[in-house]
Amino acid sequence: MKTADLFKEKTVFSFEIFPPRKDTPIESIYTTLEALRDMTPDFISVTYSASGRANKDATLAIASRIKNEYHTESVAHLTCINHTKDEVRDLLGELKENNIENILALLGDPVPGITPREDFKHASDLVSFIKQSSDLNVLAACYPEGHPAAPDLETDIRHLKTKVDAGVDHLITQLFFDNSYFYNFRDKITATGIHVPVEVGIMPVINKAQAERVISMCGVQLPKKFRVMMDRFADNPEALRDAGLAYAVEQIIDLLANGVDGIHLYTMNNSLVAHRIDEAVRTLIKSGSWKS
Ligand code: FAD
Repeated sequence: MKTADLFKEKTVFSFEIFPPRKDTPIESIYTTLEALRDMTPDFISVTYSASGRANKDATLAIASRIKNEYHTESVAHLTCINHTKDEVRDLLGELKENNIENILALLGDPVPGITPREDFKHASDLVSFIKQSSDLNVLAACYPEGHPAAPDLETDIRHLKTKVDAGVDHLITQLFFDNSYFYNFRDKITATGIHVPVEVGIMPVINKAQAERVISMCGVQLPKKFRVMMDRFADNPEALRDAGLAYAVEQIIDLLANGVDGIHLYTMNNSLVAHRIDEAVRTLIKSGSWKS
């Protein structure tokens, strides 16, 4: 099923996972996936390494297993920064052979030591290419606080409009910790004429190292409430985990109350965390099933 069709019926709830590191057997992810599948998410997406070489096969194998063995909808991410058009064409063929209908089309970030290819300059080029060469449902990323490389949010939204017009069917946001950024972004993109479903990416932060890594990578703002929480419970891992989960649940409740199209949980391959969130918000998500 194409993910964009899901939004016609309900508030969507989905998970994201990443393939195990290169030195870890791929099987190690399957126990996690089985636990995630049991929560009956609307789909599970699988990230892709921007180097293009490290985990191309892993992303495909895992997305295929989700779809064909677990019978849960899957989304394969693809970053194009280090790929030629021929390589992407081959990959689209492999997705088709594996019955995968959904792709998250990304530029990706430069990888140290690899000179980017020139075939795709922006994710919008990849979106056009996929739409011309396949009938895949195309997802893309968006940034409620603006992409870190964009001069300002307005410019980034102009670029997002170009990307959506190239054929995006469904957007997923970068994580954020202050919902007001999302509401402001939603108003602005609607005014720009972007009307595809926007699923909100939420990452429960459950330890300090994760928080520091994520924040330095994504450049998102930390509300005072979040910083106070992290500082207060920094030396108590269990308390910090529970506080991080409660923070994410509170964010999700507010987002659902404000009518978001869906919630995409960055699970960090932690099915217990996903389970705690699922338990806390499942009834609220289902209450969005009135959509027709
Ligand atoms: P783009 O949409 O191309 O945007 C990148 C920058 O270029 C922005 O600043 C934008 O404003 C600018 N831009 C776009 N079009 C134009 C134009 N026409 N002219 C001038 N400037 C322009 N990374 C991975 O490596 N693997 C993953 O699996 C992965 N999954 C992700 C999933 C989600 C939901 C999100 C939010 C991010 C993900 N990323 C992933 C990170 C992503 O690859 C990086 O954020 C990357 O820097 C941007 O990718 P993009 O597809 O958003 O790029």
